[in-house]
Amino acid sequence: MRRPPASLLDCAICPNLCRCDCPVTAATAREVHSPSQKARLAHLLASGALPVDADTVEPLYACAGCGACTELCPFTGFELAPALREARAGGPHPAGVAAALDTLEATGSPFGLAPLPEDEIFESPDALYFAGCAERAFAPETAAAAVSLMRQAGWTVARVPSREVCCGHALRCLGSPGPVAPGLWDLVAVLSPSRVVVGCPECYRELAGAGLEVEVEPALRVVRRLHREGRLRLTPLGPGEVTYHDPCGWTRLTDLGRDPLELLEAVGLQVRLPRRHGRQTDCCGAGDLLAVHSPTVARQVARRRLAALGGPTVVTSCARCRQALREAGAADVHDLLELVAGGGEDG
Ligand code: SF4
Ligand code: SF4
Repeated sequence: MRRPPASLLDCAICPNLCRCDCPVTAATAREVHSPSQKARLAHLLASGALPVDADTVEPLYACAGCGACTELCPFTGFELAPALREARAGGPHPAGVAAALDTLEATGSPFGLAPLPEDEIFESPDALYFAGCAERAFAPETAAAAVSLMRQAGWTVARVPSREVCCGHALRCLGSPGPVAPGLWDLVAVLSPSRVVVGCPECYRELAGAGLEVEVEPALRVVRRLHREGRLRLTPLGPGEVTYHDPCGWTRLTDLGRDPLELLEAVGLQVRLPRRHGRQTDCCGAGDLLAVHSPTVARQVARRRLAALGGPTVVTSCARCRQALREAGAADVHDLLELVAGGGEDG
């Protein structure tokens, strides 16, 4: 195991100020899963005070990467989830994590094989769309909807699914860090897109910080801008009311602002927000591959969130959130871009 970064030690001696906001602690009711306890454990394991084995490291993985702990954290700029990912690096890996790594190595995705759409290659396109492994596995129609909306606005959009391999986030979460989106760098050099567009918040964070020579933009922001500029007309879907679940990755870890809400309002839908929304949103339990290596815990977190959402119709903007809410029993949950594209028309 690697030595934990210095800021993790600050967290280890904190009186667990954010404990009440951690969805995993709330779901499992296990003190060892609380934020500061995880930091203490990482410190004790790295210093040799505790034996390092697949069982003792398990709590280091009890994190959905939601960032809720940052809201109450007195240490400006400290994020516990990335520090825990670093503390896991090099293993050993609990059984569920080892199984997910095997799947990733065998198929290129922690979610297993998903059917590949055809490559659609154009030189110097307005956008190169990159679908992450969760989008490919659970929401291929969302990626298709995002591409379709950009094309309706007159953009040339390339998509090369044969190069859409792990953006690097999954490997980092599983304690086995690797290169960021190795298939993408050559593609950007050869195709020279004006921008890379992504639908997944984790892909966005990985790629935006990776030093690609082109801008990386969230699909939601691009679609909202094209609509605002009058290049994309949307057919009304309302009247009707939907409840919007803010994915942590878009509202807390990346600031998408009101773009999702404005898109829903643009198609005439009334948006109902649950008590916890925006930066105070509550996690669905799917982040940082919790749902892959610890599905029971992830399901507990998702059920809590679903109960708080009310309903009956829920809209969200992350493939993993939609899947987690469905698996928790949501009968009517939609992806925002897919919903909007259903009413889109040529602009
Ligand atoms: S994340 Fe911040 S508030 Fe939470 S336990 Fe660690 S140092 Fe304390
Ligand atoms: S990132 Fe979320 S799940 Fe992880 S420790 Fe912080 S609050 Fe808990």
